Amino acid sequence: MNESTLGQGLFITFEGIDFCGKSTQARLFAQYLQDQGHTTLTLRDPGSSAISERIRAILLDLSHKEMSSYTELLLYEAARAQMVEQMIRPALSSGQLVVCDRFFDSTTAYQGYGRELDLAVIRQANELGSCGLTPHITFLIDLEPELALKRRRKSNRLKDRMEAEGLDFQNRVRNGFMTIAHENPQRIMVLRGDQSIQEIQQQIRLGFERVYNDQGRSL
Ligand code: ADP
Repeated sequence: MNESTLGQGLFITFEGIDFCGKSTQARLFAQYLQDQGHTTLTLRDPGSSAISERIRAILLDLSHKEMSSYTELLLYEAARAQMVEQMIRPALSSGQLVVCDRFFDSTTAYQGYGRELDLAVIRQANELGSCGLTPHITFLIDLEPELALKRRRKSNRLKDRMEAEGLDFQNRVRNGFMTIAHENPQRIMVLRGDQSIQEIQQQIRLGFERVYNDQGRSL
């Protein structure tokens, strides 16, 4: 555990490239936790607070083609800082389980490995944007960008500014996520995204129960 000051709360994040299935899994997992009787807060990064949602709209707007990589980085961090201070810290302090769709690993993967900004700069920016908060457990859903593209074609979701990047970019992001997972084996659990929704969810629950029970808690 990284923060003994956070009451009994747990901060759980879901990561991966677009269309890997992380929102689906985060939603099912949050529902499962609620069904177990836990007070659970479900969030998305960037977003969730009113200010962060407005920053999200700026970030994902396809017409903002001129946005510099550093502006992008700082806006992600600004949105995150607001969400952490306003929503996550209070929830953790009161013992809630917080489930978040993306967090700072996405910044490392997209702005660091995808946009190829200096990883040392990204680390500092992440420290600031997360206000020093690290997830207790992170589920990374790994999927080939080609398969993600097939899922996108089947869906009617409009592309946003990050999703509009090509396959090379998505491959760098995917490999970036795997490097991050390799560097943080105690925090990040990698799941194969080409399995069924139910299989992935089952593995997430088992992985979570292991971490939870290791801390002497019971579900
Ligand atoms: P993300 O949040 O990673 O962008 P979503 O959870 O929104 O991804 O899922 C994107 C699309 O892929 C949705 O249409 C969803 O129903 C579908 N999907 C999610 N998980 C799977 C899976 N394991 N197998 C097949 N399709 C999936």
